Amino acid sequence: MSKTKAYAAHSPKAALAPYFFEQRDPREHDVVIDIKYCGICHSDIHQARNEWGDFLQESIFPMVPGHEIAGIVASVGPKVTRYKMGDRVGVGCFVDSCRTCSACQRDLEQYCEVKIVFTYNSRDQDGVPTYGGYSEKIVVDENYVLRIPDNLPLDAAAPLLCAGITLYSPLKHWNAGPGKKVAIVGMGGLGHMGVKLAHALGAEVTVLSQSLSKQADGKRLGADHFYATSNPETFTKLASSFDLIINTVSAEIDWNQYFGLLQLDGTMVVVGVPEKMVPVAAMPLIGRRRSIAGSCIGGVKETQEMLDFCGQHSLASDIEVVPIQKVNEAYERVTKSDVRYRFVIDMASLKTS
Ligand SMILES: [Zn+2]
Ligand SMILES: [Zn+2]
Repeated sequence: MSKTKAYAAHSPKAALAPYFFEQRDPREHDVVIDIKYCGICHSDIHQARNEWGDFLQESIFPMVPGHEIAGIVASVGPKVTRYKMGDRVGVGCFVDSCRTCSACQRDLEQYCEVKIVFTYNSRDQDGVPTYGGYSEKIVVDENYVLRIPDNLPLDAAAPLLCAGITLYSPLKHWNAGPGKKVAIVGMGGLGHMGVKLAHALGAEVTVLSQSLSKQADGKRLGADHFYATSNPETFTKLASSFDLIINTVSAEIDWNQYFGLLQLDGTMVVVGVPEKMVPVAAMPLIGRRRSIAGSCIGGVKETQEMLDFCGQHSLASDIEVVPIQKVNEAYERVTKSDVRYRFVIDMASLKTS
């Protein structure tokens, strides 16, 4: 075991504070990663505050959050073949799965039917709690480690590991590309990646944001059109126009209004998680054979495909880099949507705290 320096939440109400934990010694197939940067995902905050206790699981404390991890391989176990010391690598939302169920067999480990091990707030196959990326290092099986293309800066690439793949997977699955009209609802950490990725995939991209305050950014990121959902005319003007809507909003909004924006056979995919149940009316779905669907991050293979795609298009996240000492302040700002568009922690700052 080796002592690892990190920042942890000790209870749902406590601010994150310095913390040491014991990290497992590397096994034969393990990669030891020096973490350089870790993105702050909204789900870090939900879990650190135990806000998902009612419908997922009670949080495990102390908790070291962080699943948008970018770093450098420090050492590898004797049987590791895919990585070597010095490689630029990433770790996303999970670090293991059962490897044998039908989902795992289909490279869809995120939907593992037996036991997925999340990067933090989870227990590994031996029942030991997992600790995430707000840490100086992490030990992960090579099969769950991703390669970050050389041309992408590690800090801006970190959020691709969750925000990036969360949008890339549904865009690919529902065939976003040339000739397709795609709407991204909400332009926060997830939505801004959706705009960039949908544009790079060749789709015609529309942002549906509460106001027009981010319009200039939206156009810069690749949006062809930008509409305010606070203006009721948006919903009449754009009626029956989209093939695909990706809804990234976790606040309670009326989904039925958005169904009306889908054309025949269109689909709205939900990737944001509202706290309460959202009522869904049948008629707008029936009227044009519309669908509503959900999507959860992506498998290892698809996450690597997404990273390679981002490398080819020199595409990464728009970020604000902060030292770990500012993590609690950053949490407050994320809950107020006051970030353009993702906070990334510079883990070198951990040495000074
Ligand atoms: Zn996340
Ligand atoms: Zn499985």
